Amino acid sequence: MNEWCELDKKHFIHPTSSIQQQQEKGPKVIMESGEGIYLKDIHGKTYMDAMSSLWNVHIGHGREELAIAAAEQMKTLAFSSAFSTFSHKPGIKLAEKIASLAPENLNAVFFTSGGSESNDTAIKLVHHYWRIQNRPNRRKIIALKRSYHGVAAASTSATGIPEFWDMAGTTIEGFSHAASTYRSNTESAISALREKIEAEGPETVGAFIAEPVQGAGGVLIPPEGYFKEIRNLCDEYGILFVADEVITGFGRTGRMFGIENWNTVPDMITFAKGVTSGYAPLGGVLVSDAIHEVFKLKSKGTLFHGFTYSGHPTAAAVALKNLDIIESEGLVDHSHRMGKKLLKGFKKLKDEINIVGDVRAVGLLGAVELVKNSETNEKFPQDLKVAPRVIEALHERGVICRAVTYEGIDIICFAPPLIINEGQIDELLTKLEESILEVKNDLVVR
Ligand code: PMP
Repeated sequence: MNEWCELDKKHFIHPTSSIQQQQEKGPKVIMESGEGIYLKDIHGKTYMDAMSSLWNVHIGHGREELAIAAAEQMKTLAFSSAFSTFSHKPGIKLAEKIASLAPENLNAVFFTSGGSESNDTAIKLVHHYWRIQNRPNRRKIIALKRSYHGVAAASTSATGIPEFWDMAGTTIEGFSHAASTYRSNTESAISALREKIEAEGPETVGAFIAEPVQGAGGVLIPPEGYFKEIRNLCDEYGILFVADEVITGFGRTGRMFGIENWNTVPDMITFAKGVTSGYAPLGGVLVSDAIHEVFKLKSKGTLFHGFTYSGHPTAAAVALKNLDIIESEGLVDHSHRMGKKLLKGFKKLKDEINIVGDVRAVGLLGAVELVKNSETNEKFPQDLKVAPRVIEALHERGVICRAVTYEGIDIICFAPPLIINEGQIDELLTKLEESILEVKNDLVVR
């Protein structure tokens, strides 16, 4: 155990990690550098970052252009406030840029430092929107089961994975969760949501929030007509629709924003992650022109919500350069093309290996399920830890992916950097196949 491990154990409380595992085994890996889609640890071992770290390093690691953009901004104006209508050029430019990339009706941005803050902000803006229109009773928020919206107060409550509520000790009143389309279909998911709205009382519901593709829930991609029906249902009841694009934004799904895959326009979009490719912490909420008009007309006095780092000039300069690269390198279309290749490879694995169940991808956001019986979708017993073992086998081969075993379903998630090329996708697929076969053989031996 080297000295870095000892110091880590002594002083570093890791986010979303097992403290017990850290204390027993030390940190899983200590990274030192990154280049392109690869990371290197302190022992010199190279890993393919097939999750873009936390679904966020869209343009890959080690891009000097971003370091230069940050350094130049830091030398000019590292930080300055955006409170009390103080402003600065990087903030103004970034708001304009994001508005130009977003669906046509979304043109105003509130900046945050990340995804959780963005969703908490969206929910507060929903409350503000209804309050200033004398409808303060529209406070309830409906989200989806298995959704992940973050770990701040409101975003934890919106999250549909109960383990996060346990950690919070309590959830905020007025949040509820409807079934998604996972292992179901549009019709039953829409009728479940309708029932939920009716049960809550339509006049008390302020917004419905959903990820275009449920990421942490296991990369759950909705069927074709789902979001169109969601839009109709929200309009029918006068409920706002918030799309959480924290994972799906900025090209991840082969479109600039994920919801565009389903030709649906939300009332708000929350974003973070890919907006800076992780080179600086920044997120935000885009609001529709209709909502912005209401704010302009009816929001009197101070808007009592703001983060010190809302619109951070250096983070904004990094975001601008990152978005510039995403556009100039055509990474949104590239993500679409590479995603097709990835999905084709997943389908081949499904044809060839009988423990591969459902496979799916939209752009470079994909998943492979592992099942005992691919015809009936019967799960493996949870104590076999099939998905975590495949992740471990991949790790041995120098590939980093993520396992989701929520409700005992073994899912392997993939979200490689948008710059991944064909040869690297082949490398990923080969190592995935080897890893699944290794675990499968091990299961047979046992
Ligand atoms: N929304 C979604 C869809 C996410 O995937 C995440 C993070 N994985 C968040 C919100 C929270 O973002 P952050 O971790 O930046 O607070």
